[in-house]
Amino acid sequence: MSAILSVKNVKKTRKSQRCDWCGERIKSGEPSVTMAAIWEGDFSSVRFHPECKTAWSATDWKEYEEWDCFDQHRGKTMQDAEAEE
Ligand SMILES: [Zn+2]
Repeated sequence: MSAILSVKNVKKTRKSQRCDWCGERIKSGEPSVTMAAIWEGDFSSVRFHPECKTAWSATDWKEYEEWDCFDQHRGKTMQDAEAEE
């Protein structure tokens, strides 16, 4: 069971870091989205590209139970990525 605690749109990311969805770099000064959540009972927070956050939101979570950090495609939902393979 997962619960989203907060979602924050960051206009300018301070420090360059990897997007937890696609693994590509979010450069400093670029927008990103941070999310704090309880995943499987553990608190954690992730940072996404804005388009990766959109993809995360649009993923059919009834179909997919979980996802791995850095394993998705930038801006693509789980079902989109699977349809392409
Ligand atoms: Zn990304």
